[in-house]
Amino acid sequence: CGIVGYIGEDQAAPILLDGLSKLEYRGYDSAGMAVSNGEEIQIQKAAGRLKVLSELTHGGEMLKGTVGIGHTRWATHGSPSDSNAHPHLNSEQSIAVVHNGIIENYIRIRHKLEDKGYTFQSETDTETLVQLLDYYYDGNPLEAISKIMNRVEGSYALGIIFKDHPDKIYAVRKDSPLIVGTSENGNLIASDVPAVLKYTRNVYFIQNHEIACLTGNEIKFYNVDQEEIQKDATKIEWDI
Ligand code: GLU
Repeated sequence: CGIVGYIGEDQAAPILLDGLSKLEYRGYDSAGMAVSNGEEIQIQKAAGRLKVLSELTHGGEMLKGTVGIGHTRWATHGSPSDSNAHPHLNSEQSIAVVHNGIIENYIRIRHKLEDKGYTFQSETDTETLVQLLDYYYDGNPLEAISKIMNRVEGSYALGIIFKDHPDKIYAVRKDSPLIVGTSENGNLIASDVPAVLKYTRNVYFIQNHEIACLTGNEIKFYNVDQEEIQKDATKIEWDI
């Protein structure tokens, strides 16, 4: 029920854990992170409190890398378990997704993908998103994301990383909250402002059907037709 992401100069995992802790008020039953070190995507996830994930990763130290996405889950499809916890990956472990929301037509899409030979590791609606991304992915992340947006029904805020684009985080939303924060040392995504306030007061509020692409020092926004759009940052004047 909360997502965070960080890309920049610093180690990602401790920032993800800290950001997730600020979203605890949203409630959750599992937590997980995916961190890219440029070579591969490493993941850790577990049912239970954030403390379990923090201990598993020694406060994040076990996952080295400056690009990552994190998640706290409020189970809607599939019990709260280690395998249903996010992030979810494709079978080559080259795409990782965290998701808040519900994919209404996931059973139909899952069956179609299974007919094409895809195998699923979890009971979640979310895994359908990453397998469908895999199906559409041809080296161009934006194109694959735009295609899944046209296929899926329901609500989503997503953080996505691709193994072969280790200098980028993609984020997109429809009917689930999502913001982007921008700072000197890196850029962030989150479900809500408190998760980023320690790092920045400059945020972009992502609207439905908008896609954000973050590098360590740049943020670009696109519509579902993959056309670049301009957005203005908002300065947050309040404190937690
Ligand atoms: N529907 C997804 C699941 O059950 C995401 C739930 C959430 O928003 O945390 O895994």
